[in-house]
Amino acid sequence: MIPYGKQDISDADIAAVVEVLKSDFLTQGPAVPAFEQAIRNQCGADHAVVVNSATSALHLACLALGVGHGSLVWTSPVTFVASANCALYCGADVDFVDIDPHTYNLSVEQLAEKLAAAERDGCLPDVVIPVHLAGQSCDMRAIHRLSQRYGFRIIEDASHAIGADYEGRPVGSCDFSDIVVFSFHPVKIVTTGEGGCAVTRSSELAAAMELLRSHGITRDAEKMTCAPDGGWYYQQIALGFNYRMTEIQAALGISQMQRLSAFVARRRQLASQYMTMLEHLPVTLPYQADHSASAWHLFIIRLHEQYEKNKASIFDELRRSGIGVNLHYIPVHTQPYYQQRGFCLGDFPEAEHYYRQAISIPMFHAMTDEQQLQVVTVLERVLQ
Ligand SMILES: *Cc1c(COP(=O)(O)O)cnc(C)c1O
Repeated sequence: MIPYGKQDISDADIAAVVEVLKSDFLTQGPAVPAFEQAIRNQCGADHAVVVNSATSALHLACLALGVGHGSLVWTSPVTFVASANCALYCGADVDFVDIDPHTYNLSVEQLAEKLAAAERDGCLPDVVIPVHLAGQSCDMRAIHRLSQRYGFRIIEDASHAIGADYEGRPVGSCDFSDIVVFSFHPVKIVTTGEGGCAVTRSSELAAAMELLRSHGITRDAEKMTCAPDGGWYYQQIALGFNYRMTEIQAALGISQMQRLSAFVARRRQLASQYMTMLEHLPVTLPYQADHSASAWHLFIIRLHEQYEKNKASIFDELRRSGIGVNLHYIPVHTQPYYQQRGFCLGDFPEAEHYYRQAISIPMFHAMTDEQQLQVVTVLERVLQ
């Protein structure tokens, strides 16, 4: 089976992990700060807080921005459930903004309309979480402009988008947001096995997230309520978590970051080849906005309307033929848990329309041209 996504582990990656295993620290050593430095170098943001998953990073980002009971967070319905769950962890409410029919990202027009209505009804969101689906940035300049008009904070869920650019600057620069979150799950662009990171320009937000990732415990005398009793002393000054990343994971991350530009370059090449190879098929190819250069975490095609009713059998036939297709994503508001919270089918029609047509086809760094040709050949046959 040609998978839809897969990590690429080099001998250098393995050597870096082995080196840490032989060192003094398996956690809380020098590799985590070195990995954070590598991410800062990539993004050009001042602070990077590495944690054990993007889900944890989203949770900490919400907490750092003061999300809690009575807060309201908006995100896209076409995302992994974690983009919405992070607000619920904090006791906040979640709502969604329907997607743009071309980019499949949260629609700026829908956002503007929903904000105007929310202002009239007195229920503006505190935080909006745009998700850079498949690695293509949302229109952050426009979303930022709306945040200034309506006074909400922004967390970019860039789980798919490390290595992508927006207006010629790297995603993660925080030019138009408070915090940007990356995932290092094995199917994403860069992996640490499990892992995530929150980057920000704000030293206050970074300090809040650093505190909460390690139990809310500080060893910094400046932050304590009284002078330390002695050299052993620490204080818990907030209710935090154990969201730390291990040294083993960070060593893998440092080594992987050295190949980020090669990873993204190959993905871009595969994407541009797909664009030509699939042109004649009855599918909609991924639209690329002028403002962004995708990192191509995913290659999502949409079957034309007449195939909708046969989509499940087309999907199964592709899998039977050795093509590891997938679907990103089942709209979050249609999940039973969210239906129990009051969301209904029909609430976000563009997302639901997308769901009836979308299929992710294989896209990963080590994919060969031969494998790509095989994907195209099978698609041609199945869509005949
Ligand atoms: C993968 C993913 C997450 C969660 O990442 P983890 O590192 O697995 O916790 C969140 N949001 C999006 C959009 C993702 O694709």
